[in-house]
Amino acid sequence: MTARVLHSEPTIREIGLARTQLRNTQYQTILVCKPGMRINRRHRHTTGTEVLLGSCNPLRMSRVRVVLLCLCGMVALALTLGFYFSSNDASDDDSIHMDDNILFREPDLINDKLTHNPRRFTMAQIKRLAGQVNSGRLWYALLKPILVERLPGTRGSRRVRDHIYSHLEFLSAGWSLEIDSFNSPTPKGLISFSNLLAVLDPSAPRRLLLACHYDSKAMVSASKTPAGPLRRFLGASDAAVPCAMILELVTALDIQLKGQKQQKSQVTLQLVFFDGNEAFEQPSPSDSLYGSRYLADQMSRTPHPPGAQHTTMLNALDMFVLLDLIGGPDPMFVNHFDSTERWFDELIYAERRLHNLGLLSSHPREVSYFRKDITMGPVEDDHVPFLQQGVPVLHIITTPFPSFIHTLEDTAEHLHSPTIENLTKVLVIFFAEYLGL
Ligand SMILES: [Zn+2]
Repeated sequence: MTARVLHSEPTIREIGLARTQLRNTQYQTILVCKPGMRINRRHRHTTGTEVLLGSCNPLRMSRVRVVLLCLCGMVALALTLGFYFSSNDASDDDSIHMDDNILFREPDLINDKLTHNPRRFTMAQIKRLAGQVNSGRLWYALLKPILVERLPGTRGSRRVRDHIYSHLEFLSAGWSLEIDSFNSPTPKGLISFSNLLAVLDPSAPRRLLLACHYDSKAMVSASKTPAGPLRRFLGASDAAVPCAMILELVTALDIQLKGQKQQKSQVTLQLVFFDGNEAFEQPSPSDSLYGSRYLADQMSRTPHPPGAQHTTMLNALDMFVLLDLIGGPDPMFVNHFDSTERWFDELIYAERRLHNLGLLSSHPREVSYFRKDITMGPVEDDHVPFLQQGVPVLHIITTPFPSFIHTLEDTAEHLHSPTIENLTKVLVIFFAEYLGL
């Protein structure tokens, strides 16, 4: 996107020239500098803008009052034309940064996500980023502390939440962290739940949301032998591994995320670790998805940008990416939603490039995980409350489900470490390209 900048007192000739250039689509918008404001060098650099004047002076009404009345109508017309053209081509929006000193079009929360394009990495960049994934850290430092029973409102839940919180707090990117607690009636009475939210840059107009659930399912403990120790449900794939993968992803990309935050990009990353995904009895609309139902409701009531009349935090979400039931060998992921098909294609593309670079282990075929040749029905999960309110969803869940789902066998013994590492690399490339890191 290119823009023509006019100072606050454009002459008839300057406006006429700008309008001609608009018609020729040489420029797609016209910027008028606010009185007393300065157009900074960064903006000139990032947008390729031609700047007529480097700074603007307050209007001198006495000199130009009569002429200005005529010009107002022309400037308004030129701006309208500019916005019209700019709305038809927002493919380079991410290279343009909001600047308080420049009158520039507001982010379009409804349409910008539809025209967002990923950055394309070179092979060398892909190698470097994939090399930042550390499977030892993922397994021992990040996953192991989560492999405990973590029922909502219990000490196990609090410990796991503290583990996630303290790890994110330690990263240099500077995450804004929040534990959002609430009480909800359940078949077991009133239970306290806590979602853990992390936002890289809370001031960014748009967000790419990456989520999983950290609670484990309430199941009757059992022992293999009458005298043996009681075994509890640990939910290794459901969803301890997805939580650890998200932590590893933001750890591997820590430096790049820090840089992206400093650049004040249009899109930032938000993480959500949901509580209360699992039902206490048979899953039903009222007994399951406690945390995601609560957050979707909260976000739908929060105007965004602050003070907005018609848009909420849900509109800020480019996409809701949900990880679940990951960690077993030979997983298959299918595309569940037409609206995010092009982003599912990006997962396939990331897997293919990593394979061809020899960066995936125990990965015999170019495309083993993300399959478009197979169709499966949608799966009830934490995305549902967001999907119902129109948020685009990318659901990365193993289908068919692993054989050990919701059994005491969903433990570390049934996980496949190379697969977890491979999938984390795929996600690293996917998120880094989406966010333009
Ligand atoms: Zn489950």
